[in-house]
Amino acid sequence: MNVAIFGGTFDPVHRGHVAVARAAAERFKLGRIYFVPADIPPHKQKQPLTPYYHRYAMLALALAGEKNFIPSLLEAPEVIQSEGALASYSIDTVRRFKRRLKKSDKLFFLIGIDAFMDIAKWRSPVELLRECEFIVASRPGFSLSQVARALPEELRPAAQVAQIFQKQAATGELVLSGTTIHLLDEVNEPDSATKVRKAASSGRKIVSKVSDAVAEYIRKEQLYKPGQKDPGDAMPVESPNAAKNAPEQRRKEFHIVGGHAHRKKT
Ligand code: ATP
Repeated sequence: MNVAIFGGTFDPVHRGHVAVARAAAERFKLGRIYFVPADIPPHKQKQPLTPYYHRYAMLALALAGEKNFIPSLLEAPEVIQSEGALASYSIDTVRRFKRRLKKSDKLFFLIGIDAFMDIAKWRSPVELLRECEFIVASRPGFSLSQVARALPEELRPAAQVAQIFQKQAATGELVLSGTTIHLLDEVNEPDSATKVRKAASSGRKIVSKVSDAVAEYIRKEQLYKPGQKDPGDAMPVESPNAAKNAPEQRRKEFHIVGGHAHRKKT
C-alpha cells in the first residue's frame, strides 16, 4: 500500500489541508494518509502554538468522515518525551513510522511548497529526503526552480539545470540521486491556518475555511480569542494571541537552532 505522512502544526486544520490530502491520495493512490500534528516544530518555533490536544482534537473532528485519513499521535508530547527528545523532528518521525510499515508498503512525505522551502534547515534533511519520496503540494506563484533551489546543497541540481526550471510552474517531478520529489499542482486552495486564526480572533465566520465540527470546537473552546478561556478548560491558554504559553516557556529554556535543540546555559 502507498502511505503518506502529512506533517504540520494544524493550528487549526482547515479545508486546504484536506483538499491537498485528497488530491495527493488520488494522484498517488495513497491508501492512507496520517496527519501528524507536531508538538513544537523547530521551523515554527517563533509562533506560539495552541496546545497539542486542542490541535489533535480538531484534526480528529475534521477527519471523522474521511475513511483513509488518520489523525496520528506519532509526535504526541508523551511520545517525544519518552524518547528523551525536546522537540519533534521529521527524520525521527519518519524512521519511527517506517519501522511499523510492511515491506511492501511505500512511504511518501506530503508537504506544502511553502514549508518545503525551509527543508534545508530541518534536522538531517539529506537523510530525510532519502528515507522516502516527497509529494510537494504547490501553491500559486511557485516555480520548479524554487523547489530545486530549496534542496540541501548536497542534493541540489547544478545551477544550469535549475536555471532551465526558472519559468516552469511547480509541476512534474524531480528525480535526483537517491531522492524523488513529486510536485502536486492540482490544488489551488488559498486557505491557511493564519487566515483562520485571524478571522476567529476578530469574530468573523470561519465555516468556509474549516469543517463545521472544527468551527464549533473553536467556538466552544474559545480558541484564538484574545484573553478568553472556557471555564471548563483545564489547558493553559496558549493561543497565538496569548502572551503566556508553555511552548514559549520551553523555547526560553531551550534554544532551538537549525533543527537542533540545546538547553540554554543558566
Ligand atoms: P500557518 O498559516 O499557521 O503557517 P498552514 O495553513 O500553512 O499554517 P500547517 O499546519 O503549517 O498549515 O500546514 C501543514 C502543511 O500543509 C504544510 O506543509 C503546508 O505547506 C501545507 N498547506 C497548508 N495549507 C495549504 C494550502 N492551502 N495549499 C497547499 N498546502 C498547504
